[in-house]
Amino acid sequence: MTKLWANSGDSHLVEPDDLFTESLPAALAARMPRSEKSDDGQFETIFVDGQEFRRRMPKAGMLTDEEGRTVFERAPGANDKALRLVDLDGEGIWAELVYPSIGIWTSSIQDPDLLAAGSAAINDWAIEYQRFSPRYVCTATIPLLTPESAVAEIERAAGLGFKAAYFSVAPPNGVDDWNSAVWEPVWSALSETGLVCSYHIGTEPHDASSFNGAYFRGPGGAILNYMETTYGGQRAVSKMIASGVFDRHPSLKVMVSEGGATWGPFVADRLDEAYRQHSSMVRPQLRRLPSEYLYENVYASFQHDRSAVAAMTAMGWQNVCWGSDYPHIEGTFGHTQKTLHELFDDVAPDARRRIMVGAFAELFPHVPEAPADEA
Ligand code: MN
Repeated sequence: MTKLWANSGDSHLVEPDDLFTESLPAALAARMPRSEKSDDGQFETIFVDGQEFRRRMPKAGMLTDEEGRTVFERAPGANDKALRLVDLDGEGIWAELVYPSIGIWTSSIQDPDLLAAGSAAINDWAIEYQRFSPRYVCTATIPLLTPESAVAEIERAAGLGFKAAYFSVAPPNGVDDWNSAVWEPVWSALSETGLVCSYHIGTEPHDASSFNGAYFRGPGGAILNYMETTYGGQRAVSKMIASGVFDRHPSLKVMVSEGGATWGPFVADRLDEAYRQHSSMVRPQLRRLPSEYLYENVYASFQHDRSAVAAMTAMGWQNVCWGSDYPHIEGTFGHTQKTLHELFDDVAPDARRRIMVGAFAELFPHVPEAPADEA
């Protein structure tokens, strides 16, 4: 079987347990996110700034050991810069856009000083991965409680060498949404530094009053909740396009990770229809059709979706990327080659190279080129 190589538009670092105790004063470290797994490995509780969220671990990561116990599977290189490259080589993954893991929960922090200090601590640690290998394109965590703190960290992150900024799909609770003018300095800072605005789906701030981040219960709840996580990236992109962010910042690029890809052409059509058919109510008017911004400024990564390749080959969206979600247990670790072959064996070489390698390389031109597929 030919070994395929792909870039990943969706991967994660796994923060060490002592990241915050080593880098922050004890009073702050105690309020930063941390995870505790139940003894049977079935549940995880996240503690963040006085809030607790308990969730069931995804089944895909469960293995049964020789004595019949359920154990938690983890990729060997999940916590190690060098071993991680061994894992990637084995899987056929070249470069990765790498998000935090526990750091994603920073979107539930409500204290601006804590969030700014915690984000800086994550970034000072994450940039060491990128310095270790150019195959790691790490996303800087951006404190979003105030636009001023966001701009300051974007500029600091760019100085450290980051090429991408991690944004939760919705701003923290109580802060104006992405279509508000308050974010204008943030879009300017991204545009001026060239950092890619990288949204990872499922990162809305959790509200302690909701059911631990799960919004549907009863029959089908697990599927419905997973489905619900899909929409956040589409909403974020729509808000940016409709409010004219790309009119004002035509070089700004956005990535939506883990949310599939076929939504792109669909959302583009809906935005255009609104823009055209409801034009008398449309403020602001845009220089170009909404779909043109989506097709040019927005990128997306998918992992298993069978229809995603057609978003490029049949619908013409060139900015479709693949993503592994390494080392998360719902990702492709252990079956990446099988997944890539199933997705791409019947796809024409140019389209296949564009999705597996090219769209990512266009966003991050500093990354060395991925190897050719190996017969
Ligand atoms: Mn992911």
